[in-house]
Amino acid sequence: MLKRLLLGAAAVLAVLVLVLAVKAALFTSVQLEPQPTEKIAIDADAAAARLAKATTFKTISHQIPWEFRGSEFTEFHAWLAEAFPQVHAALQREAVNDYSLLYTWKGSEPDLPPVLLLAHMDVVPVDAGSAEGWTHPPFDGVVADGRVWGRGSLDDKCSVIGLLETTEALLKSGWQPRRTLYFCFGHDEEIGGANGAGKIAALLAERGIKAWFSLDEGSAIVEGVLPGIDTPVALIATGEKGYVSLELTVMGEGGHSSQPPPQTSIGILAAGIARLEANQFPAAVAGPLAEMFDVVGREMDMPLRGLLANLWLFRPLLQSQLANSDTTNAALRTTTAVTIMEAGTKENVLPIKARAVVNFRILPGDTVAGVIEHTKRVLADDRITVNLVEGSEPDEPSPVSSTDSDSYRLLAQSVRNVHPDFPVGPGMTLGGTDTKHYYGVAENCYRFQPFVLDSADLATIHGTDESILIERYLDGIQLFAEILRNAAG
Ligand SMILES: [Zn+2]
Repeated sequence: MLKRLLLGAAAVLAVLVLVLAVKAALFTSVQLEPQPTEKIAIDADAAAARLAKATTFKTISHQIPWEFRGSEFTEFHAWLAEAFPQVHAALQREAVNDYSLLYTWKGSEPDLPPVLLLAHMDVVPVDAGSAEGWTHPPFDGVVADGRVWGRGSLDDKCSVIGLLETTEALLKSGWQPRRTLYFCFGHDEEIGGANGAGKIAALLAERGIKAWFSLDEGSAIVEGVLPGIDTPVALIATGEKGYVSLELTVMGEGGHSSQPPPQTSIGILAAGIARLEANQFPAAVAGPLAEMFDVVGREMDMPLRGLLANLWLFRPLLQSQLANSDTTNAALRTTTAVTIMEAGTKENVLPIKARAVVNFRILPGDTVAGVIEHTKRVLADDRITVNLVEGSEPDEPSPVSSTDSDSYRLLAQSVRNVHPDFPVGPGMTLGGTDTKHYYGVAENCYRFQPFVLDSADLATIHGTDESILIERYLDGIQLFAEILRNAAG
């Protein structure tokens, strides 16, 4: 009897191993075949110097509106015209809402749907006291150790200046687009983009423009970020998370702390917050994340490739592994972050009002309404009122753009042509971008900066020592050129 049981178990195990092996063997590369490409002529030193100069303009987006300095933007605009004379002779440039810029590079076949190249000219401030921590001051535009140092060198002036650098070189070479290209450079992306990208998108819509696709920041060619793969990987983000901040308020009776109720307003609120943190949104390898594993997983080493080939069995294991890191966890679910807590004024006075703010980043598929409903259900306490934070605009998560489109294939093909060894796959943007303003204007929206960024680079975005390797910046210009030629040639 025991022998029969053991034999039966061995047979089941053998079949399982066979299924796993067959699935893994069939999980083969779907990367596009690289095509020959031509390099454009770029003067490396001059290009690096121009990007460095661009970071010296303090085009800062402040949370407090009256700290905004419009002159930094207008001086930046004036310098752009000097630095890129061919661009400014051949393209039409319009200031939108004074500080944003819309460039139109007219194609020879105006009936073709145009392409939107998005980027933003504003940068985040450097926190008071943290400037001393920089190897080179954040607004000095230093070129040293093969890098351009400065606030905005990665986010996102490398895209603004990189696109203009590419265009200047293409114009010098005599190349002209068949399809119209728009460069949409916002001035307030870091505070939501409503006055910049929002106004540009409204203007394009008003003119009846329906674009083929848009390309923005929000992802890149990442190195050392994905496990099981040694080469950099180009992740073209097809979606981005939404955003909502909720205010939780509890009103207490107040009074002397010598005769307290069993729970003060602080205790009620704290218990509610503890329940919210203990009851996170469900995790799932789904949407763009699942698509990424399906495409890029094929390029990974064993045993990871075998695991990803057999998600029918290993999905729970993968999910629990991804949930262990804050970064990958954020790709798995709508996240819950308690960011503000305010209550109490005196040690012997019962608090009247207790207030907390919880910031949620919403996965495509969830909604703002769904987040509010989840929050009320988990709190399960009528004494806690839930409202949208006043003055903070919620954003629904993005629609997910297609990976089975000509425009996605064009981007993937362009990467493969310039970097034949780098795999390309879809991805998702965990933060927010200006793209959210263009859903109605572009058929598909992709987020991809054509630069190689490693995990150390990524840590400097919005942080200390923001800088870009010149070599990688120049490679990015070549990839921009390939994308423009393939999109409009
Ligand atoms: Zn940015």
